[in-house]
Amino acid sequence: MCLFWRNMRIFFAISGETRSTPRRWNYVGAGHFMVLIDRGDYWQCGFIIPKGKFNEVRQDGLLEFRAALTKLAPFLGSRLDELDTWEMVRLLTVKVDRLQQWQCPGLLCIGDAAHAMSPVGEVGINLAIQDAVAAANLLYDPLCRGSITLHDLEKVQKRQMRHGWCNCWRPSPSCREFRGA
Ligand SMILES: Cc1cc2nc3c(=O)[nH]c(=O)nc-3n(C[C@H](O)[C@H](O)[C@H](O)COP(=O)(O)OP(=O)(O)OC[C@H]3O[C@@H](n4cnc5c(N)ncnc54)[C@H](O)[C@@H]3O)c2cc1C
Repeated sequence: MCLFWRNMRIFFAISGETRSTPRRWNYVGAGHFMVLIDRGDYWQCGFIIPKGKFNEVRQDGLLEFRAALTKLAPFLGSRLDELDTWEMVRLLTVKVDRLQQWQCPGLLCIGDAAHAMSPVGEVGINLAIQDAVAAANLLYDPLCRGSITLHDLEKVQKRQMRHGWCNCWRPSPSCREFRGA
């Protein structure tokens, strides 16, 4: 199983006052891994499974699933009874990668469109906002002049690759390059 990289995550929400419970965000045990994201009045829960195994998890049944969650994070206790239908559970395929080139004539990709982020780590939204601010600052003048060029668009990626977090990830062979508008 590979964490945070091309894995599958089962997402669901568990209600309740999160402040009174342990503020750990990851729970590992019995071959399983779960992340809990504190959303104030509920936990957003991500249970990580190997790619292609979601049907097996479903076939084992909700009781089995809840038992695995209880073993990992006993403090969730009876709140796990809320999970009484698979309708409450969503499968998310996680990919962390980025475009090698964010722009082409007439188009600039920023945020997740340029660099898909893992839901865990809390950087996705920050990076998307940073990209938007950089784009606004760098493109305001050329847009006002009505003479924006590809070179202007390139400045946004260059700036963010130099200062943003996205240079933490080397492009994988599957990294997409945007070709054509
Ligand atoms: C389950 C989950 C939990 C996450 N938790 C966190 C977290 O706790 N902290 C964090 O930092 N990041 C988190 N992320 C990642 C974060 O959501 C993204 O990195 C961030 O939202 C990227 O912002 P964005 O503006 O680039 O894209 P988005 O927020 O995805 O915005 C794109 C928008 O474009 C709209 N859109 C799409 N197609 C079209 C179309 N054809 N026409 C018009 N509109 C369209 C979409 O509806 C959407 O509103 C999470 C992601 C997921 C999936």
